[in-house]
Amino acid sequence: MDTILRHSENRKSAPRRGRFADFIRSSQLRHAAAYVLITFVGLLLLNLYAPMAIRNLLFSSQRTAMTDKAQLMAASFSSYEHLDAETVREVVHSVNDLHTTRLLVTDPDGRCLYDSQTTGSAEGKLTLFPEIAEALSGTDVVYTRYKNDLFTSKAAMPLMAYNRLIGAIYLLENDRDQAELLSSLQKTLFWISVGIEALIILLSMLFSMLFSKRMRNVLQSVQRLDDGDYSVRLPSRGNDEVARLGKAFNDLAQRLKQSEDVRKQFVSNASHELKTPLASIKLLADSILQNEMDQATTKEFVSDIGSEADRLTRLSAKLLELTRLDSSPAEERQAVAVAPVAERVLRMLLPQARKQGVTLDLVCGPAETVLASEDDLYQVLFNLVENGVKYNRPDGLVRMTAETDPDAVTIRVEDSGYGIPNEAKPHIFERFYRVDKARSRKAGGAGLGLSIVHDMVLRNRGSVTVEDRPGGGTCFVLTLPRPAAEREETP
Ligand code: ADP
Repeated sequence: MDTILRHSENRKSAPRRGRFADFIRSSQLRHAAAYVLITFVGLLLLNLYAPMAIRNLLFSSQRTAMTDKAQLMAASFSSYEHLDAETVREVVHSVNDLHTTRLLVTDPDGRCLYDSQTTGSAEGKLTLFPEIAEALSGTDVVYTRYKNDLFTSKAAMPLMAYNRLIGAIYLLENDRDQAELLSSLQKTLFWISVGIEALIILLSMLFSMLFSKRMRNVLQSVQRLDDGDYSVRLPSRGNDEVARLGKAFNDLAQRLKQSEDVRKQFVSNASHELKTPLASIKLLADSILQNEMDQATTKEFVSDIGSEADRLTRLSAKLLELTRLDSSPAEERQAVAVAPVAERVLRMLLPQARKQGVTLDLVCGPAETVLASEDDLYQVLFNLVENGVKYNRPDGLVRMTAETDPDAVTIRVEDSGYGIPNEAKPHIFERFYRVDKARSRKAGGAGLGLSIVHDMVLRNRGSVTVEDRPGGGTCFVLTLPRPAAEREETP
């Protein structure tokens, strides 16, 4: 008790964390953060890699185009031994428009013979472009650069005629269209990625919050259940883990409620049953003390006190037996011969049967053997035969028969007594249930004998049912398994 009190005090004094703090600590948020991080890294790589791959593709196509153009132009000069401005102009004009930004042709000394650019033309001047210098030294130069949303491609080539250097050409091309395409692609990809990431963050947070809310609900319900509120139920719509958890929780709460109800009912019935004989004892004792009575009446009263005390003893023995059945595991089952146990039961009950003028009869061969705990078998048969005697008429009969089936032994305990009405049959194995309260009480019963029979038979893996006996009275049919060794022997 002390421990329970301290436990609940501790819980009350524990600081209640806020919802936000709970959410921040939730594992769901950590999962969501991991998703967000993974998708962020993925999208970042996509943003870096895709434009880079496209730029490389464009670079290589630009370089190929520039090389082709430079070679075409160089080939046009291959039949001239010497170049002058006039010749160059004619050749350039004879070639289809190469769509370059600038075209320069120089003589072997680097002096410009032709410049397609009219403003700031280099014609007649020495050209100091490093690409031209390289071309004049015999090397082809082709490269593309991308800067400030502009592709700049340059190509320079020596002009050779009859294995002699007659000059160099220089091509420059600024391509803004392709550069803009690349840049717009980059921007589009970036904004799509930002949109996707924002959506992922939003949805992750939303789902995390919803999940956290549902888990908080579960935790609060567990807390309420722990506090003894068995009416608490969780919503169990859907089929996800939380809904399944909700269903399992509801089943558990339902079962706890049922067992709590049974426990309360049991305690209330038990106290009521204990109170009645105690009240009678008190009443009888008071009567003896307060009234002047003759010795014979006093003796009668004292004897009544004795009977009530016996009733109390029987009742507490049965209550103890039930508690033992609920809490302790079943005793080891073994092969038990039915006949000796049944004989012992009848011997014990013979005086009571004689007193009520009831005949006891046993029809059981020595071969009938069951797999059960001997003590349980004794108690079950005792309770059934005792009931047969208690609820019988004068000159009545209680007969026990046992017969062996291939798998089980069936024991019947029948009596020629009052019988049990059909509407009471489903209830007679319930604790404290009595068909005829007055008769049962008079017979010293508290409605516990048959529930002990039921629990004991079940834990010995058998079954017990009740039926009407032909010709009046009741017949209890008990089935218990046979030992495995004997089952194998039976054909
Ligand atoms: P009790 O201790 O009152 O006998 P039981 O659990 O053994 O309790 O039996 C429950 C009720 O079933 C009894 O009160 C009685 O009314 C009825 N009952 C049990 N056995 C018989 C029987 N053989 N014949 C008629 N009624 C019976």
